[in-house]
Amino acid sequence: MQLSENDGKRFLKEWGIAVPRGFLLTSIDGISDAFGQFDGKAVFKIQVPAGKRGKAGGVRLIHDIEDGKGFFKKWTGERHGGFIVESILAEEPLTIEKEFYMSVALNAREGNYLFIFSSEGGVDIEETSRQHPEKILKMNLGPADKGQEFHFRNLFLEQGYSGSLLVALSNTASRLYKGFRAVNAVLAEINPLVQLDNGALMAADAKIEIDDSALFRLKGNKLPAANASELELEARDIGVTYIGLDEGNVAIIASGAGLSMNTMDLIFEAGLKPANFLETGGGITRDLVRRSIHLVLKNENVRALIINLYGGVNSLQEAAIGIVSGVKELKRPIPLIVKATGNQQEECWALLEEHNIPVIKSHRTEDAVAYIQRQLEVTGS
Ligand code: GDP
Ligand code: MN
Repeated sequence: MQLSENDGKRFLKEWGIAVPRGFLLTSIDGISDAFGQFDGKAVFKIQVPAGKRGKAGGVRLIHDIEDGKGFFKKWTGERHGGFIVESILAEEPLTIEKEFYMSVALNAREGNYLFIFSSEGGVDIEETSRQHPEKILKMNLGPADKGQEFHFRNLFLEQGYSGSLLVALSNTASRLYKGFRAVNAVLAEINPLVQLDNGALMAADAKIEIDDSALFRLKGNKLPAANASELELEARDIGVTYIGLDEGNVAIIASGAGLSMNTMDLIFEAGLKPANFLETGGGITRDLVRRSIHLVLKNENVRALIINLYGGVNSLQEAAIGIVSGVKELKRPIPLIVKATGNQQEECWALLEEHNIPVIKSHRTEDAVAYIQRQLEVTGS
């Protein structure tokens, strides 16, 4: 059976894919609560196991409580796609930069799985398939395929994706595939998978078809206010891009997508596994750095940390102040190394050394990785 969007999103969230904050409205009384949570505006979406709700006016930005009540009254009891509307999903409005399509489907005849991605999401995929077949990317996976991140990463690399978007797409694809397999789904489709104004990816819609025998996995029926990828949400608040990577234990904090990717690659080459991708973005402040340290360490698998910064307009002294306070507050000390070059590097190094924080004074990220590798060998983790 096909799940409603709300139920589908609960699966996605369990699989670690970010979904908007939201909750289900089954009565008109819940509407004022919904508004309390979303800074005055919300997106209302009718819940029926059928698509094309957007075109039918069943997905709409709601401006105030009265508007919400009007939408609720208009839609409940009406039919869409043959189903009677009984509930409405109220969600935080998203600032969407780009819409993608991503899905995994069972190909029962071949006994394998088909992964589909398109840079043209939001619209009807069959339509894109007919008019712009070159914009649709397909990959077959066999029953033995684990669908690890690097598998998808190579695919997206070939398509010309890079930086944090490359990491986020591969990560989402891997989580979608693994989740799909874990529940024996027939189809798991995210259309659109949206890129927000801060670069993060989020599933704005969910269509999951599942074997009836797997339905016991749906427990409770209320979407919690917070998101599955809590850390990714917290990163939004700090103003950095964070993507948790499965199975890694070396945390990264780096300035710029290029430097972050490069650090990830060198960690892989050294036979270690990165625990996350974290890019500080434009303005490095002491608070941003301090909070980033706390953020990456919330992942309990983390055994070491590499901070890799380049100071252009940003002062590395400011970064050093944040590193010192972040490290001092750590409840769980772990090996860490800082590599920082650029604007005010001497002041940065001096401050770190004063607080016994190891620092690499060159452009070589390899040296930072080698240092961490030695530390992990010593502690045997
Ligand atoms: P469908 O038409 O039944 O597939 O419903 P969707 O959930 O895909 O919504 C239709 C369209 O509404 C999407 O392609 C988005 O462009 C837009 N949309 C959906 N959710 C949101 C949201 O939370 N915020 C904003 N701004 N737009 C949304
Ligand atoms: Mn959709």
